[in-house]
Amino acid sequence: MPLQPITNRAYFPSFADLPGEHQYDARYYIDSTDPSLPPGSATYKKHWILLGDIIEANTFLRPRLVARDRRGHMFVVALYLDEPEDMTRLVPHFKVGNTVALMHPLAHSFLDGSHGVRIEDGDEITIFPCKVDELIKLNTDSIKHNWLVEEPKTCHSCGEAKQTMERCGGCKLAYYCSKDCQVKGWKDKGHKTQCKVLKDPDVKYLFQLDFRNYGKGFGFGPKSWKGRTLSPEELQELER
Ligand SMILES: [Zn+2]
Ligand SMILES: [Zn+2]
Repeated sequence: MPLQPITNRAYFPSFADLPGEHQYDARYYIDSTDPSLPPGSATYKKHWILLGDIIEANTFLRPRLVARDRRGHMFVVALYLDEPEDMTRLVPHFKVGNTVALMHPLAHSFLDGSHGVRIEDGDEITIFPCKVDELIKLNTDSIKHNWLVEEPKTCHSCGEAKQTMERCGGCKLAYYCSKDCQVKGWKDKGHKTQCKVLKDPDVKYLFQLDFRNYGKGFGFGPKSWKGRTLSPEELQELER
């Protein structure tokens, strides 16, 4: 299955394109065929994710983020999480310059007149340690050089497919044909940031997800990792 580019707006919509909380939006919903549900029930027909650059982060009173989507629109992310371990996972990453990723978000109007998304479940949110642009570049590079699929790899720097290539010892995904190319990749092609981001199992899962089929639920964070098969390298990373 080909990896989905983050620039695909059907799966990575802007805030303005999200469905509202009490609205049947045919771009996101389909009539349910589940006989155990009341007639007229609807279900999600695909996965979708909202990405935003964090531009304001608050943990005082109620944890709250202000983020900016790729079209430049600001939105609020208000967290109403019951489980303390979700906050323990997220709060250290509440930083300007990081990216917030929301799973199946619905647009909400807050009482103070602001617009955004209410998050009630920890597996609906994660934060990546880079900007949205860097995440897009990482996604583009992953697709271009076959990092997450069983295809011939190409050098991250020069783009050539050589007989012998060395795998990056950090992420174990990027390949380089020479020491020179590796240095260039690290310094000039952004791999220093990429390597760090790729250690998060959620980013790899996000890239590999089949967005077209809602199927089984999908979420972020350790609760969801339990339902997935992680590679030995990912498990090792998490045990650190
Ligand atoms: Zn090379
Ligand atoms: Zn790496």
